[in-house]
Amino acid sequence: MSEYLPDPRLAQSTLPLYDPVKAADFPQTILRYRNDRAAASAGLDTLTDEAWTSHFGRFRPLPDNQPEPLALRYHGHQFRHYNPDLGDGRGFLFAQLRDDQGRLLDLGTKGSGQTPWSRGGDGRLTLKGGVREVLATAMLEALGVPTSKSFSLIETGEALHRGDEPSPTRSAVLTRLSHSHLRFGTFERLAWLNDADTMRGLCDFIIANYHPTAQDIPGLFDAVVSANAKLAARWMAAGFIHGVLNTDNMSMTGESFDYGPYRFLPWYQPGFTAAYFDHAGLYAYARQPDTVLWNLGQLGRSLTLITDSEPLVAAFNTCPERYDAEFALAVCARLNILPLTDNQPLLTSLFPLLSSLAYDGSFEGLFYDWFGGKLSHNRAMASPRAEHYTGEAFTTFRTALEAYETADPAKLDHPRFKKPNPETLLIDEIETIWADIAERDDWSAFYAKLDAIETWRRALNL
Ligand code: AMP
Ligand code: MG
Repeated sequence: MSEYLPDPRLAQSTLPLYDPVKAADFPQTILRYRNDRAAASAGLDTLTDEAWTSHFGRFRPLPDNQPEPLALRYHGHQFRHYNPDLGDGRGFLFAQLRDDQGRLLDLGTKGSGQTPWSRGGDGRLTLKGGVREVLATAMLEALGVPTSKSFSLIETGEALHRGDEPSPTRSAVLTRLSHSHLRFGTFERLAWLNDADTMRGLCDFIIANYHPTAQDIPGLFDAVVSANAKLAARWMAAGFIHGVLNTDNMSMTGESFDYGPYRFLPWYQPGFTAAYFDHAGLYAYARQPDTVLWNLGQLGRSLTLITDSEPLVAAFNTCPERYDAEFALAVCARLNILPLTDNQPLLTSLFPLLSSLAYDGSFEGLFYDWFGGKLSHNRAMASPRAEHYTGEAFTTFRTALEAYETADPAKLDHPRFKKPNPETLLIDEIETIWADIAERDDWSAFYAKLDAIETWRRALNL
């Protein structure tokens, strides 16, 4: 168990990147979820439910931490259009602390009330949005995607009106634990304001706290390119569609966060789009790596305010090859096989096979059945999907797989692998969980799913 180590670095910096704000005074605070595993890593798991609710529902400051919440200032490109009217309009940085590995962490909120950046919005989060984010983060963590963690979800007793949910709908405040809420959009704003001094100070802050191996600004950019190439690769191997890959939703630490209309692929569909308002499919599944690259381009362009473009362009240009390398590693990790020097035959055989398996659950099913590689042959051929493991696309994949050794055969001994099906988080499952909550205030399916995802995380251990 670790100690609580407050370290409100950003509040102590004089960088003009935030505004002090107050949390909304909610009519109710009903604790719906506390992440005790994450809390244990931050020394906060010993809080009573009452104390927890006062900190993450009422936002009473944590000891020796920020005396007041800070709404962060940022701009961003939304669907490739520049928007200077952004910023923490329904969230804030509540506290910063060190985890059990000495890393700086943020406790940030979503749905905690209006701020100077709300611009007419109510500053609130729907309970359904909170439930969806808790599920997404748990599943992504299980699948080895660098993600923010959902720390706390507290229902707040208000009736919200939303165009895209049956209204009125219930409200909640989510607290997330992440490495940083500093975004590409934080830099875009400083470039837009021509504020070179703050940008230099921000680079120093990020290097010191998050990318200590970077020697200078191009080195920092290089580290951010690497982290985000890895993130994109992990999304793709997890079959995850974030849905709203705007530059204000991209973190300088390469951590996935802010989950709105996300989806997990039911089966492999390159054009699968998560957000109903993404009419052009700009943020479709297979476009995510290119989108991350485009977003990195905006970050790089912002940095030219304070540094030469040449080394930035050089780092930017390596992104596709870094992505490819990370993607091969991510696929091998999902298959529990040891990567080879050349993984191309496996990758080029995998996608035609996945494309041919057009039924619900086939994407996760394939990774599940073949987790362990050739060692799982008998298990795969006895699975509910076995009838599909035939034909040319399959044979090519199976041949490619033969070259690989199992990375960790002991993982297959986990009792979870005795079950016929993988854990999934498809839209129908989420809607069913939500319907129980919305119609009967029955949270049992939600907690059961979180337990199942936790078992899944332990079994995969990615
Ligand atoms: P998000 O959808 O949370 O990534 O937010 C995108 C931008 O819209 C951010 O500047 C948010 O602060 C703002 N925003 C979204 N929903 C609300 C809301 N209900 N009230 C105020 N601001 C909001
Ligand atoms: Mg956002």
